[in-house]
Formats: sequence, C-alpha cells, structure tokens
Amino acid sequence: MDKMDAGGMNGAGDGTHYSSGIDLDLDGDSLREECGVFGIYNHPHAGAVTAIGLHALQHRGQEAAGIVSFDGRRFHSERRLGLVGDAFSDAAVIDRLPGDSAVGHVRYSTTGETLLRNVQPLFAELDSGGFAVGHNGNLTNGLTLRKQLVREGAITQSTTDTEVILHLVARSSKPRFIDRFVDALQRLEGAYSLVALTNKKLIGARDPLGIRPLVLGTLEGSPILASETCALDIIGARYVRDVENGEVIVIDEDGLQSYKPFPEVPARPCIFEYIYFARPDSVVGGRSVYQVRKKFGQVLAEEAPANADVIVPVPDSGVPAAIGFSQHSGIPYELGIIRNHYVGRTFIQPTQTIRDQGVRMKHSANRSVVEGRSIVLVDDSLVRGTTSVKIVQMMRDAGAKEVHFRIASPPITHPDYYGIDTPDRNKLLAATHDLEGMRRYIGADSLAFLTVDGVYRAMGYEGRDPVRPQFTDHCFTGDYPTPLTDRSGAVGAQQLSLLAEAS
Ligand code: AMP
Repeated sequence: MDKMDAGGMNGAGDGTHYSSGIDLDLDGDSLREECGVFGIYNHPHAGAVTAIGLHALQHRGQEAAGIVSFDGRRFHSERRLGLVGDAFSDAAVIDRLPGDSAVGHVRYSTTGETLLRNVQPLFAELDSGGFAVGHNGNLTNGLTLRKQLVREGAITQSTTDTEVILHLVARSSKPRFIDRFVDALQRLEGAYSLVALTNKKLIGARDPLGIRPLVLGTLEGSPILASETCALDIIGARYVRDVENGEVIVIDEDGLQSYKPFPEVPARPCIFEYIYFARPDSVVGGRSVYQVRKKFGQVLAEEAPANADVIVPVPDSGVPAAIGFSQHSGIPYELGIIRNHYVGRTFIQPTQTIRDQGVRMKHSANRSVVEGRSIVLVDDSLVRGTTSVKIVQMMRDAGAKEVHFRIASPPITHPDYYGIDTPDRNKLLAATHDLEGMRRYIGADSLAFLTVDGVYRAMGYEGRDPVRPQFTDHCFTGDYPTPLTDRSGAVGAQQLSLLAEAS
C-alpha cells in the first residue's frame, strides 16, 4: 500500500522495482496496452465495488490491476501484478482502500518486462492536490510528448504513455482544475477513455472519435464510469448512457457536468471491440456485442457458404459467430473443440514457442463430433495464424474428413496503435500472405473471411462510408483515423479518411 498524502508521483511504496533505462523503442511492444477502467463516486464501499467491477473487466487486461481510493483526506493505492481475483481477494487489501470514491484499472501490456511502476491508476501530487488516472487506449503522440517533456526537465517514472497526461495537467497554467485537465487532453492524439480522481471529483473522458468505449452507470445513486456495461451488471448497477465521443464528464458534490471541449466530429468507435475485445454480454455503443457477433456469422455464411456436416466454433471467441453461421446455413452447431478454461489466452504468451504450446494446452478435439465429418471451423479473427494451424491439425488428427475455416472478420493487414495488442505488420499472416497462401499455411481445405462491407452490413449499414467511415477499422483497411505522430514516416499507413477530411 502506498498512502499518498505527500509528494512523489506514482508512489514507489508498493514494491516497485526500478530497472535502469526506459525502453522507448518504437518497434518494441512497450507502449501498447489493452486495458479496462472503472470509477465510482460517493459509495460507502467504493474500493470493494471497484474490485468487483474490475473483475468483470478482466478480459480487457490480465497482467495487472490497481485501485486508488480517496477517503476525504488521503489517497490510498493498491497496485498489483496478476488477476483481479488474486490481487484483491484478500479482505485486508480492500480494507486498505477506504473512502467513498475510487478509480481502478486492469491492464495487459506486451512489454517484455512486467513493471509494477506501469500499473495504473497512476498517481501524482499536483499543486491542486492528488490526481489519479486510469487510461484505456493508446496515444499515437505519447512518445513525442514524452520526449518534449523530458527535454523540458520532466522526470518520468513509468514507460506508459498515460504518464504524459499527468505531466501535462501538472504543467497547465489554466486556473481551474477542469481547464487544466482539458488543456492536457487537447495535446493528445490517439485513443483514450480515462477515469480520473481528485480530492473533489471523479472525471471521465473519451477521445474526440470515441475509439475505446466508456459508459456511465449508477448504483444506489452513486455514479459509475466503466469500460463496459458488464462491469455495471456484475454489481447490479443501472446503465445510464455512453460517455460520448469527445465528452468530459465531471462528477462532484454538485452533481454531473458534461463538457464538449473539442470540435465536434462524428464518432468512430473501434470495430475490434465488437469482433473480439468486448465481452459478449456487454452493450457497446447501443449494440449487444453478442448479437453483433452472431450477425457477423450470419453475413459470413451468406458471403462464404460451405458444404459441410457440422459447424464447430473455436471456443470461446468464435462461439457467437458460429451460432450465427449455423442458424443462417441450417448446418448443425456442435462443440467439436473443448476449451480448458484454466489456461491464459494463447495470444498473450511471450514467445512463439510458448504460444504454440499454449494452444495445445488450451484446446482439445471432441472426437465424437469431428470423426468422419466435414466441418466448418468458425473463429472471430486470424492474427498470426497460430491458433488456426493448431486447430486444423487437431481436427484432422481427430478424424475430420474436410476442414473449412471461416473467419468472422476481414483479414488483419495493419497493426493497431489504439490500445489493442497486435503484432508488428510482418507477423500478421494476412499482411504477408494472400488468401491461398493463408489457406495453405493453416492447412484447411478452404478459407474465407468476412468482407469489410460485410462487417458494416452486419452493423446495419449498407456498407462502409469511404469518406467518413462509421468505425475505426484500420486493422483491415490501413485507414488510421488519427495522425500517427510517433511513427510518422515509419509505417506507410494510408490514413485515407484523414486525406478525405482535409480535402
Ligand atoms: P492467432 O492465433 O495469432 O491467429 O490469433 C487469433 C486468435 O487470437 C483468435 O482465436 C482470436 O480470438 C484471438 N485474438 C484476436 N485478437 C486478439 C488480441 N488482441 N488479444 C488476444 N487474443 C486475440
């Protein structure tokens, strides 16, 4: 525990080990994060409620979790590596988070070194008092800002882009705290859904495009901010509304104030939340994630039908799309693969060798479904192809006659820089292989992906609006919706809609 009633950013009292040098290598993974955030104001059990809310957001980050509470006098912080259920199961830990307001964060970062000093919420003692912030998303000018700040004498303590937000707020010359906060936001590019806590206010903010989600809820009259509605459901809170793109919400004893400090632009939420990232029982942007995923499967069955005996989902991520595929095609849905739930996500293992072993540890064939049958495997996405190669082989070993692979999203050809972990371009299978090359690589009898327009049709549009795309979809199109200042020149991204905006 670090009690933070004096000095020191990000208090080192919680066992932080400092290593020499900060890895600012752009081609390393150190600045990419997947995260979930939660905040509550004016609730007698703010710390405990935040821990439970974070537990529902665990799928958004499994590496570390943290909570900062405020008891009217002092801030209290518990930041731990590992799962929420392990880190916050001990009642003594929750007892060390007194107070009636709290913010929390779950995090997964691909950094080779797991650093406690990167675990959020980050905390700083400003001249206006304590300030804690948790960030979901990734800034595309975080490194540029950090370099400027360091040049000007700022001393940084973490390798997260979030830390620059603390510095920018600290340095703003505006008189009111909220203006200083907004001043800082106006320097940021990229994706951010933030929850922040001061000694008087709970604050939520979403970047101008609303790339990552953030919702407002209420529990027995106490306002809540959370990445997804599943975090409201778990504590019996009521969903009020989404925080809008470009909106800053300030909650204090006078109630809730909404600010729109940016020039208004149409929202452009990340499509990958619907494809893979969000929990299926969440409602994101007014749409049930489960129903959207099922619809992806239906449209996929329309676009790429397969003649087969049985539809088999790759669990768990392929399940809703496989149900949609089965319902549309009339081919029965069966559990031909059983997943062991006690193994972490394959994707997050650090090396390819361990990733390969991870897939084998995680999935087993259900021979009774597969043997002698032609099967359609349905998964939500194909990234490196690691899962697909293993699963196709597993199906063949279990006696499948034919294996047809259907992916309920388009080929991922471009990395994400907005807070979802994706590998560098040269490791994305679809960036280095054509369709036939991918089919051969994974060893399937046929392979097909949902088209980009199919994604938009599943979302209720006629197709993708080429001038003002309705979603952030650069993973499939290369159309990055913000400048990639940190990488400018290094990526060769098309930034189509930026050009369209400018013309
Ligand atoms: P791969 O095996 O590298 O092709 O990855 C594809 C599998 O990873 C699919 O089963 C997806 O459900 C899952 N997946 C896709 N994106 C992510 C992500 N950002 N983090 C973790 N898993 C992912």
